[in-house]
Amino acid sequence: MARIITIANQKGGVGKTTTCVNLAASLVFNGKQVLLVDLDPQGNATVGSGIDKDEVEKSAYEVLMDYTAPNEAIIYGKSGGFSVLPANGDLTAAEVQLLEKKEREQRLKRALNTCSRSYDYVLIDCPPSLNILTVNALVAADGVLIPIQCEYFALEGLTALLNTIKGVQANANKSLVIEGLLRTMYDARNNLATQVGEQLSNHFEAELYKTVIPRNVRLAEAPSHGLPVQVYDRASRGALAYMALATEMERRKRTKDTRQKTESA
Ligand code: ADP
Ligand code: MG
Repeated sequence: MARIITIANQKGGVGKTTTCVNLAASLVFNGKQVLLVDLDPQGNATVGSGIDKDEVEKSAYEVLMDYTAPNEAIIYGKSGGFSVLPANGDLTAAEVQLLEKKEREQRLKRALNTCSRSYDYVLIDCPPSLNILTVNALVAADGVLIPIQCEYFALEGLTALLNTIKGVQANANKSLVIEGLLRTMYDARNNLATQVGEQLSNHFEAELYKTVIPRNVRLAEAPSHGLPVQVYDRASRGALAYMALATEMERRKRTKDTRQKTESA
């Protein structure tokens, strides 16, 4: 069974898309089969994976509206070795059109049920908003990964996000867990970043990833070449950090699986 991870934070520019694309590429490096689902009408993850978003014939929009099966829309990764359910501006219409549909929050979950078996991981990139698209991503997921930029307002939106997650856990998806909080664009020389980082570890010790993603220019450059950083500059600090994240994620999963086995034995 695929492990489905939604990457969400309603703040824009915190590193959701960067994390989605580069974590996908890192998991591929570790020998995993990965599907990246782009649920942001901006289509940044699509472009960052080497796909021309204006050329795609079928996208996440058609899948959510039930006009097409996911496998008809999924494109095998051009640059990172992972598959992509692409998105573009069409998806904006889904936000409105879905509101009239039955079970509008379950659309992505149902679609992924038909195709996720082929993958070890499905990573979902969310728009910068707590809208119906993000809710679909939370309903479909096993876990949610929250990238956080360690700056003054970083924690402000977190409560709203955690409340949305609680709402989904109470209703549509009882098994949703917080996969982890990830510090992104981290600069250890910056006092504020260290303070916010410490606050996070005090409040969310168990959930906070030990891996920290540094501010690294290679991470910012790679998408303009349509490449994950693993392919663009494999030796960069950014690439190494995302490899470390993939390893930490898999290690945590193994620990959890072992614990569950021991408890049920
Ligand atoms: P989001 O998807 O949350 O809006 P992005 O992943 O698109 O955020 O990141 C916002 C901007 O910051 C992009 O231009 C991206 O290239 C850049 N960026 C993201 N992470 C890093 C990093 N660790 N170091 C340097 N630049 C980064
Ligand atoms: Mg984004």
